[in-house]
Parts: sequence; C-alpha cells; structure tokens
Amino acid sequence: MYADRLDVITGLAKRRGFVFPASEIYPGARGAWDYGPLGVELKNNIKRQWWRTLVTGRDDVVGLDASVIAGPAMWEASGHTQHFAEPLTECQACQRCYAVAALTAQFTELHGRSPAPGLSDVNCPDCGTRGTFTDPRMFSALLSTSLGPNPPTPSYLRPEGTTGIICNFANVQQTARKKPPFGVAQIGQVFRNEIAPNNFLFRTREFEQADLVFFTQPDASAEWHQYWIDARMQWYVDLGINKDHLRLMEIAPAHSSERSINVEYHFDFVGAEWGGLEAISNRSDRDMQAHAKASGADLTHYDQEKSNRWLPHVVSASAGINRAVLCFLLDAYSEDMARNAKGGTDKRVVLKLDYRLAPIKVAVLPLSRNPELSPRARSLADALRGSWNVEFDDAGAIGRRYRRQDEIGTPYCVTLDFATPNDNAVTVRERDSMSQERVSVDQLEGYLNTRLRGA
Ligand SMILES: [Zn+2]
Repeated sequence: MYADRLDVITGLAKRRGFVFPASEIYPGARGAWDYGPLGVELKNNIKRQWWRTLVTGRDDVVGLDASVIAGPAMWEASGHTQHFAEPLTECQACQRCYAVAALTAQFTELHGRSPAPGLSDVNCPDCGTRGTFTDPRMFSALLSTSLGPNPPTPSYLRPEGTTGIICNFANVQQTARKKPPFGVAQIGQVFRNEIAPNNFLFRTREFEQADLVFFTQPDASAEWHQYWIDARMQWYVDLGINKDHLRLMEIAPAHSSERSINVEYHFDFVGAEWGGLEAISNRSDRDMQAHAKASGADLTHYDQEKSNRWLPHVVSASAGINRAVLCFLLDAYSEDMARNAKGGTDKRVVLKLDYRLAPIKVAVLPLSRNPELSPRARSLADALRGSWNVEFDDAGAIGRRYRRQDEIGTPYCVTLDFATPNDNAVTVRERDSMSQERVSVDQLEGYLNTRLRGA
C-alpha cells in the first residue's frame, strides 16, 4: 500500500522519538535500537496490556521476575547449550557469515528449487561470488559472559524466559497456593547472538519477551493449548490489529506428542512476507522431566483428589514485545486527506493506535500563546496528568499541532480558544474522525474517562 512500509515506519519512529539507532553517535551498534520518549511509553503500554490480560485480570495466573543471568547447569538441562545452535557458513571471498538455512531459503524462493550440495550454485548475497562457501559449522546463539574475578565463572544471559519460570514451579506453587491448571507469567529482557539482525525491531540480539507458562493436568494440555491459541490471537485483534494481517502457522514439533503454533503477522518485508509474533506450544512434560532429573528437585504435584503425584504438563506462550511494537506501529500507520486551514486538503499521517497503547492520551493545546490562555491551559494539563500521560504544546499553528498529535497517535486533543475564558469550555478533537465537540471544563475529566477506560 505504501512505498516501503518499513522505511516509512523507521523514519517516523526516529523523527518523532519512538526509536533511534542504538548509541548512534558512535559506530558499531548496527541492528540495535534505543527507545525514545514515545517508544518507551508505547512499549510499556503494550506490556501493561499483556500483564493486565494475562495476570491481574485472571485468577489462575501469577507473575514472576526471574534472573537474566544463569549458570550453565540450567541451560544444559533445558537443552539450550546443545540445541540452541545453527549451522553457519562463510563466504571465502568476502569472509561474511551466513546461516545455511537463510541462504537455502532465499535460493529456494528465488529459483523454486533447493540449492546444489555445498551451496555450490549459490551466490554470496554480499559480494556476489558463486559457491565459495565453507563447510557448515555449528554456531551457538547463547550469549555467554563470565562472573567474578577469581576464577571467572562462565554464565549465560537467558535466551528465553520460560526456563526460568519452569525452574520456579515448586516455589511459586507453594507460595501462591495454586494447583494445576495455573500459569506463571513474566516479561523481561532476553539475548540471542543473532548472526544477522534485520528488519528494524524484528530481529535484534537483545529484546523483551513476554512469557506465559501454563501448568496443566497431564490429560488437559491439548485443550489448554487450543484455549491459549484462541486467547492470544484475540488479544492482538482486541488491541486493534486487523485480523486479516494475522495467521496461525503450525510448526513441526520437536516431539510427536507435542504441537506448536506461531502467531504470524503480515510484516510484508522484502524476502519475508509473514513473520512470527508469538510461539504457543504444548510441550508435554518434557521440560519438567528434564529439570527434575538434572536438579534432583521434586517438581511433581500432589493431587489430593486422586492421592497421587504427577508431573504437570506445560503449555507456553512466548511473545516478542519488540516485534509487537513494530507490528502495532505498522498496523496503525495510515494516511488520509484532511481539510487544511486554507480550505484545501493535505495528506494526513495518522497512527491509529488503540487508545490503550497510544503514548500520549491527551494533548492540551491553547489556541495561541497569551496571558489569558496559557496559564489556564497549563493548569488544565496538570490536572489531567493525575489520570493520563498528557502533552502540553503551545508552539506554532494549531493545524500543525493537530498533525503532530495525529502522527504520534494521540487520541484526544483539547483546545482552549478565545471563548474559553468566558464559557469555561474547551474543544475536544478526536483523532480518527477529526470530529470536534465543545465540552465544559468541569465535565472534561468525566468525558475523557468514559472514552479512555482502562488506558
Ligand atoms: Zn562474499
């Protein structure tokens, strides 16, 4: 629909203060991003909605915040030190490294067949040389570090969040006095040594993941898996993602008793039309077995009704928060034609973010900067700040100020004009319809409250 949606969003994100290239004044941080004043609000709002829906809005899920750094024993038991690796190859002409899977997929998409053995008919995407790839070697995506001086202890920065939850099963179950079916949720930073970070916020080495681990009775995991697939899909739709832009993809499971589904969004990237937002898996009791065996801890649940012990099965739902930021930005972006002050029309850029996600909920805009309006407007903005994130702006033409708020997704603009000192009323403008309504200052908070419920 738009020339290059990713370029448009990346440009808007930088221009308006959502997302900047990381440590931009220094070289060397390609593929990493810093969240600006509006980006951090958007990201926090997404996390808040996730937490409300999955944790505080439910009786059967509790929260956790496990450590980012963990010793090798946990990651050996979980299989990450062994399996969290993929084959890499290097172009001998330019020394660039590529994932074999990525090269193969690109070639297949282009030619409609698999490449020849040894990638001998594949051109290097960087320098164009044909078939000079080394034999593949395994490369671990685990980011390692070492702790303390004498001797340094090898450790890992967690590559995902569910393992930290699963290892806390007994602690949480006892202290929260829960029995399966119940869930434990967590949002936190995770790290992967990606070979090729790409597509803005889509693939980065450091990102936030929102994880739900739902512990079920052994015979109920399939049913709960389907429940969470439906619930998670609905969450994106409820928060404004066009459901035609979402799909569910069955992923080949690691074990035959298991089933894994990806929620995908139509990112429409060059070479990657659909991309994963969230993985929802029925993992049977494999993780619980592995950690019980490796640690020696008792992770069984004592079933009082049946007077026996069993290992809970695990259903997990892991969402990438940074991908969600990108998805919500892409889906909210729209352009329309709006009337301008001269009676003509101009192109208008609007971020049609759900009001719960919008970084700024209300902008307070005195029509002009003067001693009658400015102090009133400032004290009105201060009063509204008790409830919402409010921006005060009295610089420049009102039309330009509206356009700026539209472009950052602010649902309501409150304008004080020259009639305000007499009638004690303001004009409230709604972002998407641009409709305007005169509202008494005394009733303004109530008016906004009904329209910004739960924000
Ligand atoms: Zn090359």
